[in-house]
Amino acid sequence: MSLDWDAVRFVVFDVDGTLYRQRRLRFRMARDILLHALLKRDLNVIAVLARYRRIRERMGDEAAIDFEPALIAQTAAATANSPDAVRAIVSEWIERRPLGYLAACLYPGVTQLFAGLRQSGRPIGILSDYPAQAKLEALGLTADHVVFAGDEGIESLKPHPRGLEFLIAAVGVKPHQTLVIGDRVDRDGLVARRVGAQALIRSSSSIDGWQTFARFDDALFLPVLARS
Ligand SMILES: [Mg+2]
Repeated sequence: MSLDWDAVRFVVFDVDGTLYRQRRLRFRMARDILLHALLKRDLNVIAVLARYRRIRERMGDEAAIDFEPALIAQTAAATANSPDAVRAIVSEWIERRPLGYLAACLYPGVTQLFAGLRQSGRPIGILSDYPAQAKLEALGLTADHVVFAGDEGIESLKPHPRGLEFLIAAVGVKPHQTLVIGDRVDRDGLVARRVGAQALIRSSSSIDGWQTFARFDDALFLPVLARS
């Protein structure tokens, strides 16, 4: 199975775990959070983040819409925090602090692939369940259309199709001319399939029924890499 790049006019990327090594980032953040908990004698941050992630993951499994108020409220109730306190912890530890580590976690070949796609005239879209603009800047990447699950009018988690449908409409291509590149079959793969787009899943091992790739310097991408 190989990819027919001539049939691809728009490429949509997931961010976390697709453009950068999520495990490396998670490790560094876990170290920082632990250090914070020890120094400030504050275990609340750990409890809030763990619960927030678990509820968010469950909402993704349900392809939830209008998820954010419920996510904050449920995390707050489960950890005996105010919604404002939860929002502050999420914004600090999930959105702001990881930015400084991102560049060191960027996967090899991403920058070249973005340049190649741009050179070949294919617009680049981003579809992320977490805020993506600041992360892209930290990674030194630019995209033509960036959609985050919490954006007004989107407010849905993958694999809900709303975000991808919005991107495809914004670019004005057909769903089957769109390629979604992600790291999770149950999110990125499924959203592509629901909308009628193609999917390419980053994975070191093959996954039955899905086209996968291990690295961005894979031969698969050669046809769209920038000529120097
Ligand atoms: Mg991902």
